[in-house]
Amino acid sequence: MTRYKAPRGTSDLVFPDSEKMERLIETACALMRERGYRRIDTPILEDTELFARSIGEETDIVTKEMYNFEDRGGESLTMRPEGTAPVVRAYLERGLASRGLPVKVYYVGPMFRRERPQAGRFRQFTQIGGEAIGSEDPFLDAEIISFSDALFARLGLERYRLLVNSVGCRECRPAYVDRLRSFLEAMKGGLCEQCVRRTDTNPLRVFDCKNERCRATLKGAPTIGEHLCPRCREHFDALLGHLDTMGMTFEVDERMVRGLDYYTNTAFEFQFEGLGAQNTVCGGGRYDGLTEELGGPPTPGVGYSMGLERLLMALEAEGLDPFVPERLQVFLAAAPGVQREPVLDLLGRLRAEGISADTDFMGRGLKAQMKQADRLGARVVVMIGEEELASGEVTLRDLDASEQWRVPAKGLVERIRQIL
Ligand SMILES: [Zn+2]
Ligand SMILES: [Zn+2]
Repeated sequence: MTRYKAPRGTSDLVFPDSEKMERLIETACALMRERGYRRIDTPILEDTELFARSIGEETDIVTKEMYNFEDRGGESLTMRPEGTAPVVRAYLERGLASRGLPVKVYYVGPMFRRERPQAGRFRQFTQIGGEAIGSEDPFLDAEIISFSDALFARLGLERYRLLVNSVGCRECRPAYVDRLRSFLEAMKGGLCEQCVRRTDTNPLRVFDCKNERCRATLKGAPTIGEHLCPRCREHFDALLGHLDTMGMTFEVDERMVRGLDYYTNTAFEFQFEGLGAQNTVCGGGRYDGLTEELGGPPTPGVGYSMGLERLLMALEAEGLDPFVPERLQVFLAAAPGVQREPVLDLLGRLRAEGISADTDFMGRGLKAQMKQADRLGARVVVMIGEEELASGEVTLRDLDASEQWRVPAKGLVERIRQIL
């Protein structure tokens, strides 16, 4: 018989990791709502063209990493590699602007990229992201950036840094790209094959290259900061001022250009210590040209996305465990021979009261059931014997206090409440 395995680069999330992820998602989503963001869910499948158009034909994501397929009707569909383009598509398709600007939404769910799997990099990964559409105000950029800082603080994380940059706009970036291209053409000998190709197609991408020789060559490259137009400079300075006011520590990194084509002005990343090469847990920026690119009216927007598997790794690297699994409150242990009815009745009453309760389904003896209660982390065990049932009583054992009492079955729920 064939034993099947999860596809390469994907994995099962099982207890307790699965519940840590669930609690992390709950925590992050609650924090987004506290800031006035509302939930949006877009399909996992989108028209392939949506991503090619928005992310950029020349990016690694579009040329190498997307899961594209033709469905049975001959349509080309893609499993979403990121969340911003789908949200902007939905913003236009659903006319969300009519609900008042800015539209502030958040999403959470799986994304798919066919990258080479390694520590901290998966082909299916979970992202939370937020998008604020409709305002150019740099205060909104600061709000988007500060979310991550607030979440990290709530989780107790400390070993990270925030990098910010401005990648300019449609007015000032082309002149900079030309300067950069001339520089790269003159330095061709010091670049890898891929960067030579990028020199023609998309020079900004050379800053993503991990090749040592390329990195050394790029030390002398012109920077975007020297080429920002007055509006971009003003926007960026205002953002830095807001971050200061909010008490956030940051570094300006003029070589940080995010891997997606649609960014304008603000770009930022949060990088963590102790995660190796895949140390970016969160990134984002402004995308004032994206709505137009997708056929809508010119509309500014800014957003972030955060990889939750990497965030869990960051917690582990800092020795933090904020998501202690919830304990089972009550385990019902019935002596062999006891009828199911009184057990089911009691189980039902506890659960109806919102008390978590479980029992044995394997026909185990009392001793084995006590072990099981222990394994489940139960706080209280209710022991039901035939003799006790006859007298209308049960035995209650507080596992934390190692005490036990015989109590009337009638007032049991109240008694358990007192212990919990
Ligand atoms: Zn500009
Ligand atoms: Zn290179």
